[in-house]
Amino acid sequence: MMTTMLSPEIVTVPSLVDRCDSCNAAAKAEIALSSGGSLVFCGHHANKHADRLVLLASKVTVEDGFEWAGQSHPA
Ligand SMILES: [Zn+2]
Repeated sequence: MMTTMLSPEIVTVPSLVDRCDSCNAAAKAEIALSSGGSLVFCGHHANKHADRLVLLASKVTVEDGFEWAGQSHPA
């Protein structure tokens, strides 16, 4: 299967220990930016910004069980 979407590498880990950059909730996704640096978001903010993050990220680490909006695009 080929995907024509620009999408970052997705890595799943058992758990993340960081805190969301926006609201300090437990992190569900860590976004490594292609420009360098990284962002950490809770599930709410990771999904809220998913559209932009997929364009900026080179790699996204998600906690196991968290379904990131930028990760799965049905059809
Ligand atoms: Zn948050």
